[in-house]
Amino acid sequence: MDPRVRILNEAPARENARYVLYWAQMNRRAESNHALLHAVEMANARKLPVLVYEGLTHRYPYANDRHHTFLLEGVAETGRRLRKLGIGYVFYLERGPEDRRDVLYRLAADALAVVTDDYPVFIARKHNASVPGKIGIPYHAVDSSCIVPMGLMEKREWAAYTIRPKIHRLLAQYLKPVHPIHVAAPYTGEVAEFHTEVTEQNVGELVASCAIDHGVKPSTTYRGGRVAAERTLDRFLRTRLRRYAMERNDPAAHANSDLSPYLHYGHVSALEVALAAKAYAAEHNLVADEFLEELIVRRELAFNYARFSDPPDTFAQLPGWAVQTMAKHAGDRREPCYTAEQFEQAQTHDPLWNAAQKELLLRGKIHGYYRMYWGKKIIEWSATHEEALRTMVYLHDRYAVDGRDPNTYTNILWCFGLHDRPWQERAVFGSLRHMSYEGMRRKTAVDAYTKEIDYLERTGRDLFTLD
Ligand SMILES: Cc1cc2nc3c(=O)[nH]c(=O)nc-3n(C[C@H](O)[C@H](O)[C@H](O)COP(=O)(O)OP(=O)(O)OC[C@H]3O[C@@H](n4cnc5c(N)ncnc54)[C@H](O)[C@@H]3O)c2cc1C
Repeated sequence: MDPRVRILNEAPARENARYVLYWAQMNRRAESNHALLHAVEMANARKLPVLVYEGLTHRYPYANDRHHTFLLEGVAETGRRLRKLGIGYVFYLERGPEDRRDVLYRLAADALAVVTDDYPVFIARKHNASVPGKIGIPYHAVDSSCIVPMGLMEKREWAAYTIRPKIHRLLAQYLKPVHPIHVAAPYTGEVAEFHTEVTEQNVGELVASCAIDHGVKPSTTYRGGRVAAERTLDRFLRTRLRRYAMERNDPAAHANSDLSPYLHYGHVSALEVALAAKAYAAEHNLVADEFLEELIVRRELAFNYARFSDPPDTFAQLPGWAVQTMAKHAGDRREPCYTAEQFEQAQTHDPLWNAAQKELLLRGKIHGYYRMYWGKKIIEWSATHEEALRTMVYLHDRYAVDGRDPNTYTNILWCFGLHDRPWQERAVFGSLRHMSYEGMRRKTAVDAYTKEIDYLERTGRDLFTLD
């Protein structure tokens, strides 16, 4: 049995089916996609075509212009690339309460089986729990997010040092390109009447027509889609990888990949990024180890945590020492103390924290190093630890283009001791790790970063876009 595949019901395959349906919930791409390959192999064995269905609804929590735009920017290219492979493609935009909600079931009515993405958080996790019992045909969830299949880790790992040797033991076996797609029977069916035509030109119009929160504007910086993902990867390899090991913790240096939004929306796979980084490093005599540690070990530790934690965004799975130290310091005085609204509007006394929050509001992503500082200060300046957690989850779910990801909840909880160890005890934090403004000034170019964000806020122009 392939460790990437979980069969989530016992329904029989449909007789006289017209195709195998791949429901792309998270891995919204034609390339390097184990779930798509699984659907193709299943279809080829019966000389059936494959139909890919991608949907977007106004109903998911925090649906807004930013998330909708990023996702829709990928649709036209995905459709083109799938059709070129001989695979059918349906996209359906459910704009408001009056629109139909049964598209998956309509398409499944002609399908042999449904293949989808195995994903441990947010809506895909809920769908994969509720749909298999209702769909009436086999429902296969395939892990195309992780390089080493999540299913090979039998329990929740304690920290990076416990998962690292397990990943490294299995890596040679799984760090291999996905087999190329060859369909035995090209899809020739007509376009479904509910298909929504998305082009590069009509994304804004479609977003405006949806009953969603129009208060969160698209990212100033990140455009969605496969083409943007490929360009971002290419730029990282050419201009940043060689600086990554030394400069990745200095936000103003721009040595990081900025690939997290594309990984989150599945416009690129971690597998192809890792293979590209390894190949480029070998060809140019560079070392990619630090980057691969983040992309593989840290990212897959986050998927491991989320898979074994339901729900993943509470204190329930924190280590005992973290829970106890927070209880001991629950009554400590917070000075200053801000509300979630003050945090959201970047109204603290700290110019660096405010700049990081504005980066989230504008770009939709905070640099990894300042993201830790951002989280730690929310703990320090919130009335309670629980309120701090709620604020961080809310701000990420609403604004982050890479949010609603296993990385989101795992890393927010890292601020509260997950995958970490006790440090020296102090007020409010107890023995949770603390980060200070002085430390940030010592280690990073704080002024260059605050100037950069100030320029972005004043002009709406990002000096670090690809164009
Ligand atoms: C409070 C807090 C919230 C966070 N929320 C998110 C989030 O919503 N989505 C998200 O993808 N990451 C999140 N992170 C982790 C990390 O900050 C981002 O993955 C990273 O900044 C993404 O930028 P990049 O693609 O340029 O990273 P790079 O440095 O170029 O790293 C490459 C890839 O490695 C992975 N990676 C890097 N750092 C980590 C890490 N600490 N843990 C797990 N994987 C990592 C990511 O997939 C990233 O895209 C959060 C961290 C903190 C402290």
